[in-house]
Amino acid sequence: MSKSKSYDFLVIGGGSGGIAAARRAAEYGARVLLFESAKLGGTCVNAGCVPKKVMWNASQIGEAISLAADYGFDGAAAKFDWATLKSARDDYVRRLNDIYAKNLDNSKVDVVAAHARFASKNQIEADGQTYTAEHILIACGGQPTMPDLPGIEHAINSDGFFQLAKQPMKPLIIGAGYVATELAGMLCGMGSMVTMLLRKDKLLRAFDATLGETVFSHMRDNGVDIRTGVSCEEIYRADDELGYRAVGGGGDSGYDCVIFAISRHPNTAELGLDKAGITPNSRGFIEVDEFQNAAAGIYAVGDVTPAMPLTPVAIAAGRRLADRIFGGKADSKMDYQTIPTVVFSHPPIGTVGISSERAAELYGKENIKVYQTQFVNMRFAIGDHQPPTLMKLITAGVDEKVVGCHIVGEGADEMTQGFAVAVKMGATKADFDNTVAIHP
Ligand code: FAD
Ligand code: NDP
Repeated sequence: MSKSKSYDFLVIGGGSGGIAAARRAAEYGARVLLFESAKLGGTCVNAGCVPKKVMWNASQIGEAISLAADYGFDGAAAKFDWATLKSARDDYVRRLNDIYAKNLDNSKVDVVAAHARFASKNQIEADGQTYTAEHILIACGGQPTMPDLPGIEHAINSDGFFQLAKQPMKPLIIGAGYVATELAGMLCGMGSMVTMLLRKDKLLRAFDATLGETVFSHMRDNGVDIRTGVSCEEIYRADDELGYRAVGGGGDSGYDCVIFAISRHPNTAELGLDKAGITPNSRGFIEVDEFQNAAAGIYAVGDVTPAMPLTPVAIAAGRRLADRIFGGKADSKMDYQTIPTVVFSHPPIGTVGISSERAAELYGKENIKVYQTQFVNMRFAIGDHQPPTLMKLITAGVDEKVVGCHIVGEGADEMTQGFAVAVKMGATKADFDNTVAIHP
């Protein structure tokens, strides 16, 4: 092994958090090296937000076409071709990979395309070479969790979904969170006959209950076969079909694809964390303090930490960290309160702040007020297909500070960012009321 190469900042992982931190540090003049063992851009660009949004857009276009006749367009029935979409989507992702490489190069961040692991507290080993720095960032993200079941080799996860060359026409999706709900909605929108298995009785239990309930009933109306209280104990292949057996009996077959979407776990097993004196928690995550410190001179951001696993969270944490270490901003840290998020379901959910259930726990039921409205968006008013729009504000205290703002319906994905600013600034119900509405 040749002599160790020295840098100011070593970054493990070229995904959302790692790239953001590396480039920001380099802007301050730090000598930065980033390790990436797969493709630049990480989960978000290659097997997450980006290809997912392309697929979601496709199913939205499908929905718009289904409205065309109501709006007077004749002969708008269109044939959907998965291969065309996949090819265009993969080209777009490759363009983004190149853009990330160019941006790192422009920022003068060196890149090593190899798996990195700790050799000691301030030393990383990759591809037979060691690298030393005073500051090391772990931003190595996570991967989909697969259960240990007989026949699991017949199933895929979200990574496998983005590789499918053919549209699954009869998919079985197991899970009840973001990924399961998004994949089920978009496949249904593209014409697949989707079955979902929920081990409990609700979708999206982490959110205000009204949101999951609204999406659940609309997905059922749209033809998604949602089976509740079913835990899968085996997947099997019979001839060309896939089937499942449920715990306690039951199950069926006839599926062409089985997708597990039951959460993700961090990529910490092969990092040599013991050499750095870091012990991950019982679920494998790296615990950090409010300044992202995992140990002296070692930091972690993004999905490898127990924080909300979202791209803008990883990016913001990475940038704040670089501002603190290399930008002279000693107090710079990520604010993990009031993070807005969107579930690209059908219809989409946009949410910021806490649920009514959580607000009651925090403030007492007698101190909160819930304002809720439901209507049909005018876009759907002239046809038979009428997905709901639901809006819910949760306020706390006598000044009625808005502590939760939850929307499900067409456009929720785009409009929530603006509401998030208001909620983050501490807006009250009166502020919302005093803002003139946009019409129609
Ligand atoms: P990652 O982006 O996962 O990057 C980590 C990188 O580290 C990877 O490229 C990996 O190859 C590399 N790596 C790992 N170990 C090593 C090692 N030892 N040496 C070198 N390199 C290593 N978030 C949103 O905000 N909006 C969305 O719409 C959204 N949609 C999603 C859809 C899906 C299907 C999935 C799975 C996720 C989605 N997310 C979304 C979540 C988002 O993708 C993640 O929160 C985000 O990518 C986390 O960024 P990160 O930098 O922590 O990790
Ligand atoms: P989630 O944590 O969102 O949901 C997983 C759900 O699957 C659990 O809540 C649980 O629901 C269910 N589950 C867990 N274990 C099992 C099991 N053994 N069998 C059956 N069901 C099980 O994880 P995802 O994988 O969907 O997504 C991972 C993360 O990625 C998300 O938390 C999110 O932060 C991010 N992401 C963000 C997106 C966005 O911003 N739009 C889109 C996609 C992902 P229950 O307990 O109710 O059964």
